[in-house]
Amino acid sequence: MDSTEKNNPVYSRTDKSKVNLKEEEWKKILSPDVYYIARQKGTERAWTSKFENFKEIGTYYCAACGNALFKSDTKFDSGCGWPSFYEPISKSAIIYLPDNTHGMVRTEVQCGRCKSHLGHVFEDGPPPTGLRYCINGVILDFEKAEAAKKKYEEGKKG
Ligand SMILES: [Zn+2]
Repeated sequence: MDSTEKNNPVYSRTDKSKVNLKEEEWKKILSPDVYYIARQKGTERAWTSKFENFKEIGTYYCAACGNALFKSDTKFDSGCGWPSFYEPISKSAIIYLPDNTHGMVRTEVQCGRCKSHLGHVFEDGPPPTGLRYCINGVILDFEKAEAAKKKYEEGKKG
Protein backbone atom coordinates (compact mmCIF):
# COMPACT_ATOMS: atom_id res chain seq x y z
CA MET A 1 0.00 0.00 0.00
CA ASP A 2 3.06 2.29 0.22
CA SER A 3 4.27 3.15 -3.26
CA THR A 4 0.89 2.73 -4.93
CA GLU A 5 -0.70 5.25 -2.61
CA LYS A 6 2.00 7.90 -2.98
CA ASN A 7 2.23 8.14 -6.76
CA ASN A 8 -1.39 7.43 -7.45
CA PRO A 9 -3.70 10.48 -7.72
CA VAL A 10 -6.89 8.40 -7.97
CA TYR A 11 -6.17 6.30 -4.87
CA SER A 12 -8.70 7.12 -2.15
CA ARG A 13 -10.42 5.11 0.55
CA THR A 14 -13.18 7.70 0.93
CA ASP A 15 -13.89 8.98 -2.61
CA LYS A 16 -16.57 6.77 -4.16
CA SER A 17 -16.65 8.44 -7.58
CA LYS A 18 -15.83 6.14 -10.49
CA VAL A 19 -12.31 6.13 -11.87
CA ASN A 20 -11.87 6.13 -15.63
CA LEU A 21 -8.28 6.27 -16.76
CA LYS A 22 -6.63 5.39 -20.04
CA GLU A 23 -4.38 2.37 -19.97
CA GLU A 24 -1.27 4.51 -20.44
CA GLU A 25 -2.27 6.61 -17.43
CA TRP A 26 -2.68 3.47 -15.34
CA LYS A 27 0.71 2.32 -16.51
CA LYS A 28 2.28 5.48 -15.11
CA ILE A 29 0.72 5.27 -11.65
CA LEU A 30 0.66 1.54 -10.91
CA SER A 31 3.64 -0.61 -10.09
CA PRO A 32 4.40 -3.15 -12.85
CA ASP A 33 3.04 -6.11 -10.89
CA VAL A 34 -0.20 -4.32 -9.98
CA TYR A 35 -0.56 -3.08 -13.57
CA TYR A 36 -0.14 -6.59 -14.93
CA ILE A 37 -2.93 -7.99 -12.73
CA ALA A 38 -5.25 -4.98 -12.69
CA ARG A 39 -5.13 -3.85 -16.30
CA GLN A 40 -3.82 -6.84 -18.25
CA LYS A 41 -5.93 -9.38 -16.33
CA GLY A 42 -2.89 -11.26 -15.23
CA THR A 43 -2.84 -13.94 -12.58
CA GLU A 44 -0.22 -14.08 -9.88
CA ARG A 45 1.39 -17.45 -9.27
CA ALA A 46 -0.52 -19.62 -6.80
CA TRP A 47 0.75 -19.59 -3.20
CA THR A 48 2.79 -16.41 -3.75
CA SER A 49 0.51 -13.89 -2.04
CA LYS A 50 1.31 -12.71 1.46
CA PHE A 51 -2.47 -12.61 2.00
CA GLU A 52 -3.03 -16.24 1.05
CA ASN A 53 -2.48 -17.45 4.59
CA PHE A 54 -3.14 -14.17 6.36
CA LYS A 55 -5.49 -13.93 9.33
CA GLU A 56 -5.37 -10.33 10.57
CA ILE A 57 -8.66 -8.55 11.27
CA GLY A 58 -9.35 -5.62 8.97
CA THR A 59 -10.40 -4.49 5.53
CA TYR A 60 -9.05 -5.26 2.07
CA TYR A 61 -8.98 -2.44 -0.50
CA CYS A 62 -8.34 -2.27 -4.23
CA ALA A 63 -4.61 -1.58 -4.64
CA ALA A 64 -5.28 0.44 -7.79
CA CYS A 65 -7.89 2.87 -6.45
CA GLY A 66 -8.47 2.30 -2.70
CA ASN A 67 -12.06 1.03 -3.05
CA ALA A 68 -13.07 -1.18 -0.09
CA LEU A 69 -13.59 -4.74 -1.40
CA PHE A 70 -13.65 -7.35 1.36
CA LYS A 71 -13.71 -7.70 5.14
CA SER A 72 -11.37 -10.13 6.81
CA ASP A 73 -14.28 -11.98 8.44
CA THR A 74 -15.41 -13.22 5.01
CA LYS A 75 -11.95 -14.59 4.18
CA PHE A 76 -11.54 -18.35 4.35
CA ASP A 77 -8.97 -21.05 3.69
CA SER A 78 -9.91 -22.28 0.25
CA GLY A 79 -6.68 -24.17 -0.34
CA CYS A 80 -6.66 -22.88 -3.92
CA GLY A 81 -3.47 -20.83 -3.59
CA TRP A 82 -5.02 -17.36 -3.75
CA PRO A 83 -6.71 -15.20 -1.09
CA SER A 84 -10.36 -16.25 -1.03
CA PHE A 85 -13.48 -14.58 0.30
CA TYR A 86 -17.11 -15.67 0.34
CA GLU A 87 -18.70 -12.22 0.12
CA PRO A 88 -17.70 -8.68 -0.96
CA ILE A 89 -17.97 -5.80 1.52
CA SER A 90 -20.95 -4.37 -0.40
CA LYS A 91 -22.92 -5.11 -3.56
CA SER A 92 -21.42 -2.18 -5.45
CA ALA A 93 -17.84 -3.00 -4.41
CA ILE A 94 -17.48 -5.45 -7.27
CA ILE A 95 -18.69 -5.90 -10.83
CA TYR A 96 -19.11 -9.20 -12.65
CA LEU A 97 -18.29 -10.08 -16.23
CA PRO A 98 -18.45 -13.34 -18.18
CA ASP A 99 -14.99 -14.67 -19.02
CA ASN A 100 -14.71 -17.42 -21.62
CA THR A 101 -10.95 -17.25 -22.11
CA HIS A 102 -8.56 -20.18 -21.63
CA GLY A 103 -11.28 -22.64 -22.69
CA MET A 104 -13.21 -22.12 -19.45
CA VAL A 105 -16.52 -20.51 -18.59
CA ARG A 106 -15.80 -18.31 -15.62
CA THR A 107 -17.04 -15.10 -14.04
CA GLU A 108 -14.46 -12.39 -13.78
CA VAL A 109 -14.66 -9.94 -10.88
CA GLN A 110 -13.52 -6.35 -11.24
CA CYS A 111 -13.29 -3.42 -8.84
CA GLY A 112 -16.60 -1.55 -8.81
CA ARG A 113 -14.83 1.81 -8.73
CA CYS A 114 -11.95 1.52 -11.23
CA LYS A 115 -12.74 -1.69 -13.15
CA SER A 116 -9.41 -3.26 -12.35
CA HIS A 117 -9.25 -7.02 -12.71
CA LEU A 118 -9.33 -8.70 -9.30
CA GLY A 119 -9.84 -12.39 -10.01
CA HIS A 120 -12.78 -14.74 -10.49
CA VAL A 121 -15.78 -15.93 -8.52
CA PHE A 122 -16.69 -19.62 -8.34
CA GLU A 123 -19.72 -21.39 -6.95
CA ASP A 124 -17.90 -23.77 -4.64
CA GLY A 125 -17.51 -21.53 -1.59
CA PRO A 126 -18.73 -22.04 1.97
CA PRO A 127 -22.06 -20.90 3.45
CA PRO A 128 -23.75 -18.49 3.70
CA THR A 129 -23.15 -17.48 0.08
CA GLY A 130 -21.66 -20.64 -1.44
CA LEU A 131 -19.33 -18.39 -3.40
CA ARG A 132 -15.55 -18.30 -3.60
CA TYR A 133 -14.05 -15.00 -4.67
CA CYS A 134 -10.59 -16.06 -5.74
CA ILE A 135 -8.56 -12.84 -5.73
CA ASN A 136 -5.01 -11.93 -6.73
CA GLY A 137 -3.24 -10.74 -3.57
CA VAL A 138 -1.24 -8.21 -5.62
CA ILE A 139 -4.40 -6.16 -6.21
CA LEU A 140 -5.29 -6.07 -2.49
CA ASP A 141 -4.27 -3.50 0.10
CA PHE A 142 -4.95 -4.40 3.68
CA GLU A 143 -5.63 -2.16 6.66
CA LYS A 144 -5.82 -3.58 10.14
CA ALA A 145 -8.97 -2.78 12.07
CA GLU A 146 -7.00 -1.19 14.91
CA ALA A 147 -5.09 1.06 12.52
CA ALA A 148 -8.31 2.31 10.96
CA LYS A 149 -9.83 2.95 14.38
CA LYS A 150 -6.76 4.84 15.54
CA LYS A 151 -6.76 7.02 12.44
CA TYR A 152 -10.44 7.78 12.94
CA GLU A 153 -9.93 8.78 16.55
CA GLU A 154 -6.90 10.90 15.74
CA GLY A 155 -8.92 12.60 13.01
CA LYS A 156 -11.63 13.49 15.52
CA LYS A 157 -9.08 15.06 17.89
CA GLY A 158 -7.34 17.12 15.23
ZN1 LIG B 1 -10.25 -0.21 -7.85
